[in-house]
Amino acid sequence: MKSKPVPSYLTISNSEFIAKIDGLYELSENCGLCPRKCGAKRLKGEKGLCGAADKLKIASINLHFGEEPPISGKTGSGTVFFSGCSLKCKFCQNYPISRFCVGNIYDASELAGGMIKLQEKGACNINLVSSAHYMPFVAEAIYLAKEQGLKIPIVYNSSGYEEEKLLAFLDKIIDIYLPDIKYSDDRYALKYSGAPDYVGVNRKALKVMYGQVGELIVDKNGKAVRGLLIRHLVLPEGISGSADSFEYIGRALGDNVPISLMNQYFPAYKAAYDSKINRKITDDEYLDAVKEIIRMNLTGFFQRSDNLDIDNMYGLI
Ligand code: SF4
Repeated sequence: MKSKPVPSYLTISNSEFIAKIDGLYELSENCGLCPRKCGAKRLKGEKGLCGAADKLKIASINLHFGEEPPISGKTGSGTVFFSGCSLKCKFCQNYPISRFCVGNIYDASELAGGMIKLQEKGACNINLVSSAHYMPFVAEAIYLAKEQGLKIPIVYNSSGYEEEKLLAFLDKIIDIYLPDIKYSDDRYALKYSGAPDYVGVNRKALKVMYGQVGELIVDKNGKAVRGLLIRHLVLPEGISGSADSFEYIGRALGDNVPISLMNQYFPAYKAAYDSKINRKITDDEYLDAVKEIIRMNLTGFFQRSDNLDIDNMYGLI
């Protein structure tokens, strides 16, 4: 019988961990933490395109029960929402946090204390939502929390628009990668998220993540302990390029990497003013994406819909 993997950050030496934290701070000096590489002098207080400067800003630290079953488990995911974001999605559902940077200032030790409290409340994991632009502080917080007894897996929950150099520092700190694959056409990535290089950057990042953590491993209670789980939000009018994205996952990563297929798109933030994305998706648009996953023999988590008879196909969110 295989033993349950220990969280990676418990397996590295303090000196290796500290070298990673130092490297992350260095990467933020003329900031290159994300693919924007905007060069903001973050440690001197300059604000980058993501809205972050020299202080860690967090919108909320809470247990969350609405993630995929292996992430939320029965006791909830210990979710930390970070203020600001390097993507500029017109339809962002969290735009007060991502675009208007709503949140409060923390330091690394306060965040470490928040992680410990989440663990005490029974969290299955620490779920870092859009944390790339704060990763030096966050890695420091994980280190401090580890010293105080943190022992649950770390989830890196991301738009999938990630810088390779940053990911290299995250190796052996992150246990579960939960990235998006948002687009398969850079024209849409530019128009709707302001990221003209999203597709290439995203696909490379997925490969790096997979190389670090491999396929999703769950324990006997169905909780994820390690691995990659990719999210795909179906957008109206085929904008998310679902079939092409699935084809890439199958070809580059194999058919055992689960895809969480999300149907909850609604026209938030500036989407109401765009005639292509100013509506929810139809059942047919979602079902078409479901069928593609099945046709390609990939693994999926699908969302329940009253109008769709997909309950018996795979795991449901
Ligand atoms: S993380 Fe922010 S400050 Fe750093 S490169 Fe990206 S947009 Fe610029």
